[in-house]
Amino acid sequence: MVACIFCKIAAGEIPSKKIYEDEDMFAFHDINPVRPVHFLLIPKRHVGSLYDVDASYQAVLGKMMIKAGDLARKQGLNDGFRTIVNTGKIGGQEVYHLHIHVMGGPEPVGPMVYRV
Ligand code: AMP
Ligand code: ZN
Repeated sequence: MVACIFCKIAAGEIPSKKIYEDEDMFAFHDINPVRPVHFLLIPKRHVGSLYDVDASYQAVLGKMMIKAGDLARKQGLNDGFRTIVNTGKIGGQEVYHLHIHVMGGPEPVGPMVYRV
């Protein structure tokens, strides 16, 4: 996916504030953080969203969920944090390479979503 910005970040072709990398995944600080700590965790192998994944992503997504907590701990989020995976237009997804947001800081993140 040559045009995908997150593929380019994972390949090191676009600079990012990397916090973790292994053969399967890449984690970096969000360029426009909404909390004091806000990073993104992505699979290196491109997939657009949770709507697009198939069983071949099962292992890497499991590893990412475990790594999310490990990285949150290393970022000092010891009292908790919020994870979000936006999917598609209704989910508010802006970048179509699956990513887990991890965010937190000293203050509670707040309600999960606003009631409509
Ligand atoms: P989403 O709405 O879930 O697709 O979120 C996309 C996120 O990617 C937003 O929080 C953006 O601030 C973030 N983002 C976009 N471009 C970059 C970039 N070059 N480096 C780091 N974060 C980015
Ligand atoms: Zn991609």
